[in-house]
Amino acid sequence: MAPAVDADCERPAVHCPATYRALADNFSSKTVSPWCEHRKCLTTGHNGIFATTSFAAGDVLCKFGHSAIYEQPTYQTLQVGASKHILLSPEWLENTNHSCDPNVFFNTEASALLALRAIAPGDELCFFYPSTEWAMGEPFACRCGAATCLGHVAGASALTPQQLEGRRLTPYIQQRLAEAAAAKAATAEAAKAAEAAAPGGGGSG
Ligand SMILES: [Zn+2]
Repeated sequence: MAPAVDADCERPAVHCPATYRALADNFSSKTVSPWCEHRKCLTTGHNGIFATTSFAAGDVLCKFGHSAIYEQPTYQTLQVGASKHILLSPEWLENTNHSCDPNVFFNTEASALLALRAIAPGDELCFFYPSTEWAMGEPFACRCGAATCLGHVAGASALTPQQLEGRRLTPYIQQRLAEAAAAKAATAEAAKAAEAAAPGGGGSG
């Protein structure tokens, strides 16, 4: 079943950052846990999860598990390994939208949703998709409105070390970044060696 796509949004109805404004005043809501509600925009059909209680930075909002594991990412999955993408349980967690200035983090080691900063009732819960996703199945143009908005969100593999600096990332993403940095250094080293070995190499002239 393909989700509806909003004309103003390049993404399927779930997870679209363009929902933030729409979900503020024209929505239906459903209490899905004692501390949050699931909102659905009556105009666009977009979904989001909103806090109904307060949290402090570092608080665990809930534990999570998975109902299925896929080899390829979808707009609903969370990456936990090279070919391991989980469908979240409880299911409503899959409506957690992206923000370039997130207030929650999916800690895949502890299977816990963590508050990155203070959260007040009425705040939308958003995480930074590249914190768990290396190469997203469905990249999108971000309209989260954060001062630090990246503009295009495609996964950690598409970002520079500067863009990822200071961000909370899963061990899997940290490992992939270390591997990518090592591969880049090895390529540069090989190019340098090839240049030195080439006739006329070494630059004395
Ligand atoms: Zn953004």
